[in-house]
Amino acid sequence: MTKNTLHREVVIIGSGPAGLTAAIYAARADLKPLVVHGPQPGGQLTITTEVENYPGFAEGIQGPALMQQFEEQAKRFGTEFLTAFIDKVDLSERPFTLWTEDHEIKAETLIVAAGASAKWLGIPNEAPAPKGLGGMGVSACATCDGFFFRGKPIIVVGGGDTAMEEATFLTRYASRVTVVHRRDHLRASKIMQDKAFANPKIDFVWNTEVLEIIGSAETGVTAVRLRNTQTGAESEFACEGVFVAIGHKPNTDIFKGWLEMDDVGYIRTAGRSMATNVPGVFACGDAQDSFYRQAVTAAGTGCMAAIDAERFLDSLPVPTPTGEEVTIEGEIVSADHESITMPDGEVVPNKPPEYESDGQTAQKVGVVYARPNTELSS
Ligand code: NDP
Repeated sequence: MTKNTLHREVVIIGSGPAGLTAAIYAARADLKPLVVHGPQPGGQLTITTEVENYPGFAEGIQGPALMQQFEEQAKRFGTEFLTAFIDKVDLSERPFTLWTEDHEIKAETLIVAAGASAKWLGIPNEAPAPKGLGGMGVSACATCDGFFFRGKPIIVVGGGDTAMEEATFLTRYASRVTVVHRRDHLRASKIMQDKAFANPKIDFVWNTEVLEIIGSAETGVTAVRLRNTQTGAESEFACEGVFVAIGHKPNTDIFKGWLEMDDVGYIRTAGRSMATNVPGVFACGDAQDSFYRQAVTAAGTGCMAAIDAERFLDSLPVPTPTGEEVTIEGEIVSADHESITMPDGEVVPNKPPEYESDGQTAQKVGVVYARPNTELSS
């Protein structure tokens, strides 16, 4: 089947706070960005409830409402959106190529803002139905599925902020929420811990891991099998729902082999910029941040990535992870800024341009940097 070909100066993968902030900045720079996103646009904030720490919203705001604002702001300046899964990329040369089922997308610059997804325990019966009981009592999203557990006892697995947030939210519906954590203290922030400890509907089971989810297609979840990590003792715990809240994994698999990543799959960026090891490819948000992982930091790095892409397209040097700087022309400025390696390998000193004068006017000698004359198709 022939695919539709699109060619854009800036293609952004992902529509969470990072991707949409990058889109706002790129669109306002008149770069007409294309945002490619999956069937659930808006990223992780669309499956959260109240967001109380995003600056500018003194009374807090619901996650989906916040993302709606981001999207409208990006659209206002001409961002184009495409709902599609990218199944393959080729970053060997510019323009980069991305393939979806129906499109071949050429990108002069690429901003990876693909975010992260919930991690799973990898235990029996956790997989989506019909293989397991996923969707039949097993979930990783309280705001999506909590409603189905009205009056039922459930467990939440994990000890971080996500687990505390999910557990607290689920007390709206569940008869009882039991947090099962593998250690004897929580990783969650103090404010989230305090909120959970103060909630009379939440219990804690410490030093315990979940070995198996018990139930069937007919009954749904009926129990979990637990193991005490201190004594090794196993037991069964009756419950009708299991919410897995053990963190997230970056959605970067399709970039393996192209972009440098850490062991877990977070893309390495330059530090001083959002540049990856491939000149012209930038990464922002949770796809490259295993540490802060906040909506506001994701938005901040999205802004940086868009500015980097704009600089790159203007042939201005962008810092790379090696400390060097690179331009769209393939010129590499050394980390100490002493020399420039030209695309043909010639090394020249990094000096200001010289001027020739005829006595009346001064004329710059050397390369005139200009935007590449790309013809973009619709
Ligand atoms: P975290 O990585 O912070 O916590 C994951 C939790 O799951 C840890 O308690 C960990 O245990 C446990 N865990 C991990 N793997 C397993 C496993 N295989 N079996 C059993 N338990 C496991 O992830 P979160 O998603 O909770 O938080 C991520 C980031 O997002 C944090 O920076 C957090 O502050 C932020 N966040 C902020 C929120 C807010 O402010 N409203 C809401 C949600 C998240 P252990 O502790 O033993 O390692």
